[in-house]
Parts: sequence; structure tokens; C-alpha cells
Amino acid sequence: MDEDIICIGCGAVLQSDDPKKAGYLPKSALDKARTNENTDVYCQRCFRLRHYNEIMPVDLNNDDFLALLNSLAEKKALVVNVVDLFDFSNSLLSSLKRFVGNNDFILVGNKFDLFPKNSKQSKIKDWIRQEANRMGLYPKKIFLVSARKKLNLDTLIEYINQQSQDKDVYFVGTTNVGKSTLINAIVDMMGDIQDLITTSRFPGTTLDRIEIPLENGHFLIDTPGIMTESQLTTHLNAKDLELISPKKPLKPATYQLLPGNTLFLAGLGRIDYLKGESTSFTVYVARGMYVHRTKTINADAFYEKHRGELLAPPASDDQLPALKGQEFNTNYKSDLLFGGIGFVTVPKGCVVKTYTPAGIGLGIRRALI
Ligand code: GDP
Repeated sequence: MDEDIICIGCGAVLQSDDPKKAGYLPKSALDKARTNENTDVYCQRCFRLRHYNEIMPVDLNNDDFLALLNSLAEKKALVVNVVDLFDFSNSLLSSLKRFVGNNDFILVGNKFDLFPKNSKQSKIKDWIRQEANRMGLYPKKIFLVSARKKLNLDTLIEYINQQSQDKDVYFVGTTNVGKSTLINAIVDMMGDIQDLITTSRFPGTTLDRIEIPLENGHFLIDTPGIMTESQLTTHLNAKDLELISPKKPLKPATYQLLPGNTLFLAGLGRIDYLKGESTSFTVYVARGMYVHRTKTINADAFYEKHRGELLAPPASDDQLPALKGQEFNTNYKSDLLFGGIGFVTVPKGCVVKTYTPAGIGLGIRRALI
């Protein structure tokens, strides 16, 4: 067996199996390090941080994360929970309640650029606040941003600057919400801290945090992303993930449906229309995603026959749990949620059953558009 080599930046054992795990280094570089005994080797994450001021995500599980943040309640801090607006319920950290203590926390809803152009920010914020309150969380503020497009970052940065006068700012979030992209964008826009990062000390272990010094003597602290089973993204391979992730604002596609009809969202989502009038369902998913309408009585057979081919992604079904459904009544115009995939707007007075693998990310909200 090959001997373990340790990253001199963060102390993680170097590995070339999983780019999202601690200590990742591409295989060619790792092989080179193994044959070259006296070189100091950095993992890819520390290398990029050192040379490009770029923060790469690293994942850990919930237990590690809780251990990491256990001490937070005793500190003076601002906690920033970054959430994915397209996978909101699965990216909101219910465990926040336990570790925030008396500290303030704010929610930053990322990927706002994907919302259709006519979306109202106030409606989205109301929805987020209600969902957070339902989980016993009371954010002091809610920001809607796009880290990728640098939308609405000015107001967030202004708030962080103001809050960090007397405390450190901790960024927390599940994986894939865009936390690294966001921190990189903030650092980029803050400008004056750029030079400092390269000289900032490296954390003691990779499960630790990255501290970005601010001019006022406090820090922005990037904690590792938490992986949860309840995110579809945890179950998909990189190629499928790429396919279902929208790149541009979602455009509505309308389907006329009768009770007894079923819509498939590729092989990842399904809606059975159980009761109601003939009406239109408006689908908001990534543009390249295949949507198929069929009769509900044929739907199971259709899915068996075509999954992994016509109904792809997923390209293969072995990595995913079976589809599981949940029934919803629409008491008002509603969005049926498919966390990580998108949503479908249906009018008032419909009974539907929606499905995803293991029921991950299913939900409903008052229509936002
Ligand atoms: P992390 O695991 O939370 O650190 O997430 P990353 O920063 O690695 O981002 C996860 C994925 O979301 C990547 O594919 C990013 O390109 C994408 N992403 C990040 N921010 C945004 C955003 O503002 N808009 C959109 N559309 N995608 C984003």
C-alpha cells in the first residue's frame, strides 16, 4: 500500500479519489509527490488558496460539523447561513438553532439569478422567512444574492462590514449551495483584503475553518460544507448534476393536463394529476431537461422502460433511491417543489401526487410568480 502523504497546508492525508473531500490532489500530481520524497506538497485546495486566493469547497458530515461549531455559542459572532434558493428546505441548517446561541444569524439565499425575471424579491423573502420560522429559526435579515453573477452583493457586504466591527463572521452551509463561490466573490469585491489572504495562516486541520482577515482586525470564517442525505445533489454524479443545474434564468414551459395525466421531469421527478379541472401546469426547470407527459395508468411501465435513456438524468439508476411520492392539495395557486431540480406552478383546487428519489426535496409553497 502507498504511504500516506500529508498536505503541509492543512494536514489532511492527500488523496486523488474525491475532489470534494479533504486532501484532494489530482492523481498525476499525487503520483509525482510519491516519487519525489523531499517535496512539500499542498492539496489542491490549499494550493489554490495560496496562489490564487481562491477558496474551494471541502465537505464533511454533520457530526464533524456540529463538533466544529459547538464552541460558537460562547463566542461573539455573526452566523451567515448560505442557502440554495432552488433547494431551500434541504439547505437550511436546522441545527443552527443549537449552535447560534445568542448570536445573530442571517440567511443568504443564493442563485437568485435563476429565478424568472419577473420574480418579486419581497415574495421570495416572505416565503423564506415563513419556512425558517417553521423550523424555529428567526433570521435577523434575509438577503437574496447571486454569487455567480454578483447580484445584490453590495448590500450584503455593507452589512457584513458593519457587523464585523466587533465580531467575526462565520459562513455555514450544506454542500453545493454556492458558499465558496459567494466567499470568493465577496473577497474579490472587498478588494483590500486580497493581499492578506495569501499570508493568512492555514488552518490546523482540514476539518477546521479558513480565516480571512479583515482590515478591522476581525475575520470572515469559511467553515466546510455539510453533506446531507436529503440533498439530491449528494446522490447524483457530476455529469447529471451539470445537466439538471440551470445556467440561465428559468423559463416557464406550460403543459395542459387532465386528471389521470402524469408529467415526468426526466427520471428525477414525477407529478400525477389526481383531481381537478383540465388546466395548465407551468414547469420551471433547467432548459435542457426532458419533460414528458403521459397517462398515469401507463406511467409506471413507461418509467421502467425509459429511465436512464429517454428519462435521463439520471444516466443510470443504481446510484439513486426509488421514486417516492407525496400527495398535495392546492388551496391556492401553488408551486410544487422539487428541491435541486426546480418547481411546477399549478392553480388552486388541484390534488396531485409528486415524486422524487426517496421523496427528497418535495414540498409546496404559495406560488411566487
Ligand atoms: P459550495 O459547495 O457551497 O461551496 O458550492 P460551490 O461554490 O462549489 O457552488 C456549487 C455550484 O453552484 C457550482 O456549480 C456553482 O457554479 C453554482 N453556483 C454558485 N453560485 C451560484 C449562483 O449565484 N448562481 C448559479 N446559477 N449557480 C451558482
